[in-house]
Amino acid sequence: MKNILILLLFCLFTSLSFGQNVERIEPANWWVGMKHNKIQLLVYGENVSELKPQINYLNVSVRNTTQVENPNYLFINLTIGERAKAGEIDIDFYKNGKKVLSKPFSLLKRENAEVDGFNASDAIYLITPDRFVNGNKKNDSIDDLKEKVNRANKGGRHGGDIAGMRQSLDYIKDLGFTAIWLNPLLENDMEEYSYHGYSTTDFYKVDERFGSNEEYQALAREGRTKGIKLIMDMIVNHCGSNHWWMNDLPSSDWINQWEEYTETNHRKSITQDPYASESDTKVFTDGWFVRTMPDLNQRNEFMATYLIQNSIWWVEYLKLSGIRMDTYPYPDQDFMSDWTQAMMYEYPTLNIVGEEWSDNPAIVSYWQKGKVNSNGYSSELKSLMDFPGQVAMTKALTEEESWGGGLIDFYKIIAQDFLYADPMNLVTFPDNHDMTRFFTQVNEDFAAWKQGVAITATMRGIPQMYYGTEILMTSPKDRDDGLIRSDFPGGWKGDEINVFEGKGLTDRQKEATAYIKNLLKWRQTATALHTGKLKHFVPKNGIYVYFRYDDNQKIMVVINKNEAASQLDLTRFSEMFEGERKGRNVLTEKEFLLTSEIEVEANSATILELKK
Ligand code: CA
Repeated sequence: MKNILILLLFCLFTSLSFGQNVERIEPANWWVGMKHNKIQLLVYGENVSELKPQINYLNVSVRNTTQVENPNYLFINLTIGERAKAGEIDIDFYKNGKKVLSKPFSLLKRENAEVDGFNASDAIYLITPDRFVNGNKKNDSIDDLKEKVNRANKGGRHGGDIAGMRQSLDYIKDLGFTAIWLNPLLENDMEEYSYHGYSTTDFYKVDERFGSNEEYQALAREGRTKGIKLIMDMIVNHCGSNHWWMNDLPSSDWINQWEEYTETNHRKSITQDPYASESDTKVFTDGWFVRTMPDLNQRNEFMATYLIQNSIWWVEYLKLSGIRMDTYPYPDQDFMSDWTQAMMYEYPTLNIVGEEWSDNPAIVSYWQKGKVNSNGYSSELKSLMDFPGQVAMTKALTEEESWGGGLIDFYKIIAQDFLYADPMNLVTFPDNHDMTRFFTQVNEDFAAWKQGVAITATMRGIPQMYYGTEILMTSPKDRDDGLIRSDFPGGWKGDEINVFEGKGLTDRQKEATAYIKNLLKWRQTATALHTGKLKHFVPKNGIYVYFRYDDNQKIMVVINKNEAASQLDLTRFSEMFEGERKGRNVLTEKEFLLTSEIEVEANSATILELKK
């Protein structure tokens, strides 16, 4: 009897494990009570397409399964009924009527936290996690991940992580920021140059050198408690060439493949060009970003579903306030519209900002929700990065004033806001992780830096600044990514300069930090900047004046590029005055009497809150 039992157990064991294995199920969980309750599981394992899955769980059912070219994949379409309860589901896999294995799938209860979308009342701090703070030395290198830590290599991994960011939330909050946008944290198991995070090798897993999914979730939760919203950087255009599926693609059209390596032409004008050729269009959309970043084919319906579900998964898992979508115009346009629509359907209060790196507002505005485009394309994207504004602002602050140059450059770009369906929801910035540091862009002219920061904080839109702007970080004039994304002083044990302790900073750096802090703290209360209107006046004699106003507040901003203090005649702005007699400089508390003229300091940005 005993022997028979052992034999039976042995048979059971072999039938469960022999020859058949499921290596991955993605996503590995879902939540009850989601609008997206018909989900598709990607199942991977040798010959899994031969298996028939079954589920015995109240209000959850397998609708059907789909096989694709590669027998090592099976797609399971699940329906999670409205009455389904959270719990662990067994997915039983059968072959020839016999159960061969079983895999768990979790149905989770949703966390109560609200998805609190970022908006113009926020100020965003952009962080490159590998370069900010190394909070856990133990994860600097991981045995199973290819690239090891090497702080001496500017393009290498330096060890910054989620632990470091968690420790720094109070610092960020104290600077006056209310949101963080983090460069991607998902696994990038590439041989080299993996620190930036844009070569995803696992869409469901945080890179262990940054921490874990659970730590990312803890960062999100702690941020929420402190009033700091989280914006996740996402990439649906490409993955990393070491992504696990690259060795065994579900189908030949899973990625966009070319006979020989073909790079995108990066010509963004193609999307709206009435004369664009089909071949240029194909190269733009299906060409690869770089050799190590295979171009995903979002026209493949399984890929499209995979990406949409993955994004929803992260919003739900982290209760994100926003997404920054990388390389927005490069994926399939119709897919981007479906993706955004799906996100907004599930999370109407979420905000999403797209990266369309063009200095031309006609190109950027094409992608904003509500824009009527001549080719009929309709986008669902709420926000875009204001690249045209960034370029124009730097030009305005560095060029000599003339009839056609200087401040007028910026004024002219802002005047083209008619192209946008919602200019107030653009994200404005002096620089980001992909460009020369702003202080370098303005030739280390501190006055121009202050003007740029003041404009970013008071102009229409949602301000974003890159970590280190507060201490005037610089970089070489010619773009050098590794040095743009330099280590934040004090983020590593033993750093001689330590920003967190205020150690080793120059007076000018301290002044810069105080400037940003003052400005952003005041900005938090300035409703005219959050939801108010904008009116500006043609720059004249090296001075640009604009107003932000709502029913309760009126703010006057004066950018003076003159080398000497200037008398500003107020007559030209009289349409903006309704009996206000005083202006309080919001940074110095100095009061101005608004008589016929006011004196503004040389090379300054003066922000006045007007009072009767
Ligand atoms: Ca570390």
